[in-house]
Amino acid sequence: MRRWIASLTLCFTAATGTSVSAQELNLYSARHYQTDEALYSEFTRTTGIRINRVDSDDASILARLRSEGSSSPADVVLLVDAARLWRAEVDGLFQPVRSNLLDARIPAHLRGKDAGQGAQWFGLSTRARVIVYNKKTVQAADVDTYEKLAEPRNKGKLCTRSGSHPYNLSLFGAVLEHLGPAATEAWLKGLVTNMARAPKGGDTDQIKAVASGECQIALSNTYYLARLMRSDKADDRSLMENIAVSFPNQMSWGTHVNIAGAAVAKFAPHQVAAVKFLEYLAGDAAQAYFADGNNEWPIVNIKTSNAALASFGIFKIDPAPVSIVGMNQVKIQQMLDRVGYK
Ligand code: FE
Repeated sequence: MRRWIASLTLCFTAATGTSVSAQELNLYSARHYQTDEALYSEFTRTTGIRINRVDSDDASILARLRSEGSSSPADVVLLVDAARLWRAEVDGLFQPVRSNLLDARIPAHLRGKDAGQGAQWFGLSTRARVIVYNKKTVQAADVDTYEKLAEPRNKGKLCTRSGSHPYNLSLFGAVLEHLGPAATEAWLKGLVTNMARAPKGGDTDQIKAVASGECQIALSNTYYLARLMRSDKADDRSLMENIAVSFPNQMSWGTHVNIAGAAVAKFAPHQVAAVKFLEYLAGDAAQAYFADGNNEWPIVNIKTSNAALASFGIFKIDPAPVSIVGMNQVKIQQMLDRVGYK
């Protein structure tokens, strides 16, 4: 908390224009991991650019950018999930970035749409949204596609967090892309029918509910699983004993993958430094921090020593652009309201 307040003070100083210097950068970050400190200090060491951080959650950062408007001191914004990045782009909170390095290193389907002046946000790491199930009570063949989650064979077995959470909005947006509106709405209705309990909690709570037997099947991002697998607490590791993981749709359109990403703020006072920071984040050294610090896959092809990630193996990824998935979230929310998915 104290560090947060200190960052606020620095940023407000920057906002008054009294201390704006080319050698600093104001970062609004929704990522908070142990390795972040090393990630940022390495940038300062190599470029001489000091980083002032505002750490908060995604929703608060977006609310803050909106209320600060053109006087916002924010240079770089780090958010998780394409749904949120897309929303911020639509709300006019970012600016397009033209960078040969970013274009070369970050696959086109993992950045915002380029309308001619460059994309407005860039994926920096990926996570898959997978199916977690009780391996004693559920057959692998009953959970090898997202579609099967809605089938009668899985009635009363499913746990999820809120349907409106960005992680689910993005997954459902991908399903809409592949199945079309009618089949997607019927699928969402099937999920509601198959629930073991009303949606609540976060992804880790769903994993725990499967481990405890409260439900048999759940959805989770991969890094929550990897975190439990790598935990130094025996209780965390034992949660995984009865659990298996399905990377769905390997025979069809592939497993849904989302991103954590970065953007340059619309009114960035240090635009040049901001682009430099994004390029740094796409570099090999920074990418290794993403993989080790939060168990995410790097966006570039580098070797990681993360055993939990390695244990997931290689899998087929849904090639649908994450920007489209973001775009679909309004339609999905309307469907969720109609089928009563809280
Ligand atoms: Fe998360």
